[in-house]
Parts: sequence; structure tokens; C-alpha cells
Amino acid sequence: MAADPQTQSTRIVLASRPEGVPSSENFGTEVVDLPEISDGQALLRTVYLSLDPYMRGRMSTAPSYAAHLELGDVIVGGTVGQVVASRHPDLAEGDYVLAGAGWQSHAVVDGAHVRRLDPSAAPLSTALGVLGMPGFTAYSGLLKIGRPQPGETVVVAAATGPVGSAVGQIARLKGARAVGIAGGPQKCQALLEEFGFDAAIDHRDPDFASKLADAVPDGIDVYFENVAGHVADAVLPLLNLYARIPVCGLVAQYNGADLDGRDRLPGFLSQILSKSLTIRGFIQSEFVPEMYEDFLTDATGWVQDGTLRYREDIVDGLENAPEAFAGMLQGKNFGKLLVRVTPER
Ligand code: NDP
Repeated sequence: MAADPQTQSTRIVLASRPEGVPSSENFGTEVVDLPEISDGQALLRTVYLSLDPYMRGRMSTAPSYAAHLELGDVIVGGTVGQVVASRHPDLAEGDYVLAGAGWQSHAVVDGAHVRRLDPSAAPLSTALGVLGMPGFTAYSGLLKIGRPQPGETVVVAAATGPVGSAVGQIARLKGARAVGIAGGPQKCQALLEEFGFDAAIDHRDPDFASKLADAVPDGIDVYFENVAGHVADAVLPLLNLYARIPVCGLVAQYNGADLDGRDRLPGFLSQILSKSLTIRGFIQSEFVPEMYEDFLTDATGWVQDGTLRYREDIVDGLENAPEAFAGMLQGKNFGKLLVRVTPER
């Protein structure tokens, strides 16, 4: 089903709702004719598509902070696109923009809803990772809710991902000790050698809980919650008095994994009470008005001078998005997961 890139778009839609880990049957591929662009709009070709854990929630009808996808909808997603044609005064053919075009090769977008990117400031792909929504999630959740102080210990899981790797590095910039949790020895090595974490623990290790305890001799002051599940079980007893927990994501639960049926709530409430814990969930968009400009200034500077490092896992071809997405929910990605839909030019 080859599309004509001048007049058509290839897109991936939700064909059925996944139960557990998404599989190929949950996705459909369509080729559609592109509409004419109107005043204020632009036609984009997608260069990079971001694959993010939140998309799993949009595929289900469980109550959420955002509306779920209907069957047949194009899967949502952040994109870096290049302007192919424009009827917006600020967008010229060839410009690169940050958009939310979703899982499709081309899209007609409202020019007011995209942000022009400067390819000389940083690689274009970073607008979807370290300098984009995931980086901002780390920055805002850590600084606004976690508030790490010099000498404190910050723990984060999914630590080689775009959120976790930035959390650990920003914690160190603030003078805290960063302990990362990741799946497998290769990822743990990257935490120490690439991202400069002070300690790295493999959550698949049978002695994970005791190794984590050994890695935090002074306890844990900030637990940036990305995963929940068995990682949170190991972290909770190690929290210090007045510890803070920004609740950012629960990826271990996204596929409906069974948490072995134990009722954890009484033990959790008792920890909250006895340790005077502060636990605060957040969706990064709430902090955009007050923090986004500061984030862009700080993070761009840190990326440019090498203080804030990032790793990308780039998959070629839109058709490979479903498999890559399912793999991410099982820890198969190693860094910010992106699909290169068409090459940069
Ligand atoms: P990642 O690229 O880190 O991908 C998810 C990672 O989760 C996997 O690579 C895997 O890493 C880890 N993981 C999966 N299952 C488990 C499990 N059962 N136990 C422990 N770890 C597991 O994702 P992001 O950096 O993009 O996102 C991190 C978190 O931040 C997610 O929960 C996401 O939903 C959340 N988020 C929240 C936002 C908000 O506004 N609140 C905005 C953006 C993201 P490993 O192999 O190391 O275990």
C-alpha cells in the first residue's frame, strides 16, 4: 500500500483495544488522501515520531486525565515534522517544527499549534526527548515536587529512559546523590558511565531489594515514581522522614499486570503517616505556563555544554512503530524511543 508522498498520508490507527501488551492486531494501516491546506495551516512530512508510555493509556477506556482514542483514530503522538507547504505567515517550506501529528507520515496542521525548531541549537530529535516533553517532565516534577537538596538521595527507576536519565542528572546538578534503577546490567552500566549516576541497581536482580538498601546508606529523600510495582515495594521501607514522591508514571501497571493481589494500601498509608511523606501526582502540562521557558533555557544550555546527556533509541519506518511501542512497555528500548518516519534532509 505505497502512498503518494505529494498527496497522501500513511497512518496507523487503533484497530482494537489491547489487553495486556499491545500486539500487531491492535493496529491498522491506512493510506488516505491529504486535504487541501487552508489559511493558517501547513502540510508537514513527519521526520521523527515519539513513542511514549502514555499512549498505552489512550488505547484503553479506563478513566484517565486525557480522552481515550476511538477505534479507527490515528494514534496520538509528538512529532518533528518538516513543512512541505504552508499557508501560515510564520512557517516556510523546509522549516522544521515540533507538532503533535501522531502516527502518520504526513499531516495538515494548524500553524498556531506547532513550534518552529532551530536545527543549529540541538539535534532535531531532542525536541521529543531531553529538550521536549519527557525532559520537561523530569525538570518540573523533580524541581517542583521533589525539591532535592544538596547531600540528599534521589532514587528513580526507568532511569535510562528520557525522563529517568534527566531526573538523575538534574538531581546531581542540584547537589544530590542520584541512584538509578534499570532493567539489566547494560543499562546499569550506562547509568554509571554515560549519565554519571552515583549508583545503579538492576531491578531484575533476585537480590534487588537488598542491593537497593545497600546503595542508599542514608535512606531515600526523593523517590521519583516512574514505574510502581516491585520497585516501589523495595523503595518504600527505605524512605526517610519528610521524603517527597513526585508520582510521574506507573509503567509497571500500564499493561494491566497483576500486582500479585496483595493489598498494599494499609502499609502504604502507615508509611505516609509515620514518615510524614509528601506524595504528589502530576501531569507535566500543569507546569508548562510557569516553568517551560526556564526549562528550555536551562536544559538547552546543559545539553550544549554536555552537562545533560541523553540517549536515543531510533527505529526506522512507521510500520515498525507498533512493535517498538510494545517493546518499550517491556523495557526493550534503551534510551528515548523514536521512529524515524522519513530521513532528515
Ligand atoms: P522509558 O523510555 O523509560 O520507557 C519505559 C521504561 O519503563 C522501560 O524502558 C523499562 O525500563 C521500564 N519498565 C517497564 N516495565 C517495568 C516494570 N515492570 N518495572 C520496572 N520498570 C519497568 O519511558 P519514559 O522515560 O518516556 O517515561 C517514564 C515514565 O514517566 C513513564 O511511567 C511515563 O508514563 C511517565 N511520564 C509521565 C508524564 C507526566 O506528565 N506525568 C509525562 C511523560 C512520561 P527498564 O528496562 O530500565 O526497566
